[in-house]
Amino acid sequence: MANDSCDGCGRPISVAGGIANLWTFGQDDGSDGTAMTLELADGSDHLLCYPCIAALPDEPTAADVGRLEQVDGETSKLRAQ
Ligand SMILES: [Zn+2]
Repeated sequence: MANDSCDGCGRPISVAGGIANLWTFGQDDGSDGTAMTLELADGSDHLLCYPCIAALPDEPTAADVGRLEQVDGETSKLRAQ
């Protein structure tokens, strides 16, 4: 279990096990960490918590990632520009 922080909101996150577990989003049972790596269309990748991933639009950009902020323990949103 690696401890890290979300590239978007900065909240502490955990990524369970090896790299394969980064890709369990969508079939997560709640026991496998709290984040995954999201690769953007521009080729950059960002380690993001699930609330941030949920807050991002369908085709997020690095600017969108930069606008992420934590609302509470389970919610993130995009900060108004
Ligand atoms: Zn986040």
